[in-house]
Amino acid sequence: MKSKRVLITGAAGFLGSHLCDRFIKEGFRVVAMDNLITGSLNNIEHLFKLEAFEFYHHDVSKFVHVPGEIDYILHFASPASPIDYLKIPIQTLKVGSLGTHNLLGLAKAKKARMLIASTSEVYGDPTVHPQTEDYWGNVNPVGPRGVYDEAKRFQEAMTMAYHTFHGLETRIVRIFNTYGPRMRLNDGRVLPTFIGQALRGEDLTAYGDGSQTRSFCYVDDLVEGIYRLLFSDYAYPVNIGNPDEITIAEFAEEIIKLTGAQQKIIFEPLPQDDPKQRRPDISKAIELLDWTPKVNRAEGLKLTYEYFKSLPNKDLKPKDFVSYNK
Ligand code: UDP
Repeated sequence: MKSKRVLITGAAGFLGSHLCDRFIKEGFRVVAMDNLITGSLNNIEHLFKLEAFEFYHHDVSKFVHVPGEIDYILHFASPASPIDYLKIPIQTLKVGSLGTHNLLGLAKAKKARMLIASTSEVYGDPTVHPQTEDYWGNVNPVGPRGVYDEAKRFQEAMTMAYHTFHGLETRIVRIFNTYGPRMRLNDGRVLPTFIGQALRGEDLTAYGDGSQTRSFCYVDDLVEGIYRLLFSDYAYPVNIGNPDEITIAEFAEEIIKLTGAQQKIIFEPLPQDDPKQRRPDISKAIELLDWTPKVNRAEGLKLTYEYFKSLPNKDLKPKDFVSYNK
């Protein structure tokens, strides 16, 4: 029997590349797609030699054509770091809206099941804590984060419309802060920024007074949750994240301890609309998918630190990211 074929967009990115690995491991044929704006071929280079793996260099905001059958589509293409989507706001809106529409059309034509990568950002700066899936959120549509948040909210609405109107099989995962190997050292998110600073001997920059909270999930746990959700029969959004919440100042302390850095924490202005608190309520994932995160932060941070230490160039800082298409 021929193995099932899965299309993964954003395949050269942090999460996309880990998903490619997982689906290859499970015996799927993987069609990887990426426009390489924020992704890197380094993340999937090891897969090119496999017969079960093929790669398309393509921007899914434009019409998507893939010959042959497709059984599943996982839409993970999008800048995901605030600093990235502030630099490429229009592309961020397009990949979440036009890109999603193109892929839903492809899924319909191929009779494929489609899973979209949504986000805790649909909850904005949440007034409900922890965040449950039935909370509608507190998003500023015209603020700097609006380009990402609203694209993802539209993406959910569009996906749900294809589900109800066309009967398409769809899945929606709301991803909370995730970390692990293959994050870009210069992507601007808090973990690579802190580790990069520690490795370069710079002070760690906590924004605001560092009292805002996040809950960090190790990438392997996230991938397991996504895998289970895809093969569940549940079409409504499901939070996947690690509920272990920490303030950003405490997180900086943990990184200093982990890396043995001698530097101190300095405080810089809080970016506009930066959510004050974030923690997933994962009751649904537990009940529907029998899923809980297994890797604690101490373990996950150690693995991630080893990865960053092994990189040849540790000098990249967020501002170095300039190569993108207009
Ligand atoms: N942050 C920080 N210092 C940095 C980068 C980020 O204090 O150098 C903070 C940021 O303001 C936010 C949190 O860390 O409160 C997480 O930021 P990130 O960009 O990783 O993602 P977010 O969860 O805001 O989407």
